[in-house]
Amino acid sequence: MTNDTLDKSAIIELLTAAPADELYRRADDVRREAVGDAVHLRGLIEFSNICRNDCLYCGIRRGNRQVQRYRMTDEELVETAKRAAALGFQTIVLQSGEDMHFDQARMCRVIEQIKRLDVALTLSVGERDYEDFKAFREAGADRYLMRIETTDRDLYHRLNPGMSWEHRHECLLMIRDLGYELGSGIMVGLPGQSVESIADDLLYLKDIGIDMAGIGPFIPHPETPLAGEAGGTLEQALRTMAIMRILMPDINIPATTAMESLHPQGRIMALQAGANVVMPNVTEGEYRRLYELYPGKICVNDTPAHCCSCIGLKIRSIGRTIGQGRGGHMKR
Ligand code: SAH
Repeated sequence: MTNDTLDKSAIIELLTAAPADELYRRADDVRREAVGDAVHLRGLIEFSNICRNDCLYCGIRRGNRQVQRYRMTDEELVETAKRAAALGFQTIVLQSGEDMHFDQARMCRVIEQIKRLDVALTLSVGERDYEDFKAFREAGADRYLMRIETTDRDLYHRLNPGMSWEHRHECLLMIRDLGYELGSGIMVGLPGQSVESIADDLLYLKDIGIDMAGIGPFIPHPETPLAGEAGGTLEQALRTMAIMRILMPDINIPATTAMESLHPQGRIMALQAGANVVMPNVTEGEYRRLYELYPGKICVNDTPAHCCSCIGLKIRSIGRTIGQGRGGHMKR
């Protein structure tokens, strides 16, 4: 069977009825064949939990008054990146809420300083205007992550008050056309999300030509309007991720932190079901705990050095290697 045979009904079959272990093995074979055994590590810096948006699922939504808010200074941010580079990370990911205090000029200054460390730089700072995306790219940012979250427009608009699905989609196209490596993805197990819409999501991600796919379970946060919802399961998320691998054999796919938050071996299971990237948290001190998108987040009391060696051991224990170099999308 080639990936061309995966139409919507075949995807739904794999999401629901097919034996999970066979699906995971197939995705693992596709991964080995297309991108090999290397697991690329990205150092994730969560630099601000201040956000202008009010997404119903997210623990750092504007409306959550229980969060102690923080914003790193430029110096802290660059120092954190330096320490991550010293640990050996060749990709740094900057993630935050939509904190407009990091305006174009400030973001560009930070990007330029981090790029002097000779690393690949990924941004995950949400929706900005074209001029910002362009300026960040010119300042040296290489990659951009922005999950579409769901392609079910009605569901998106219910979950993201004041936001527009069409605008997010346009942001993804702008990012891609500016020459960034484009990462997108979805949450699985959102309230009211159908299996059909997850199949549509996967076909959408393939259609827009992403370079990286982040897929994780939705985990209800107690201080949000979705506190009482069921949330996604690890199996649903792993199945979705495995199908993504079969649909797009050579892209980068992280074993997501949310998977490990549902199961102590979640990321290892993901690495054996299609994933080839891990993004250890290199945020320091209290900030780790305060960047709480969902409850049960792993490693909140650990240090970057600990996370780095811990995940390295886990990766080697399943016979995989740590990727050398920047680990960009192979097709590029
Ligand atoms: N502000 C940036 C970064 C968002 S945080 C942006 O909008 O792109 C990164 C991702 O965490 C989100 O895209 C979302 O998919 C995920 N996330 C947020 N809340 C979550 C929850 N409760 N459970 C699981 N994942 C969540």
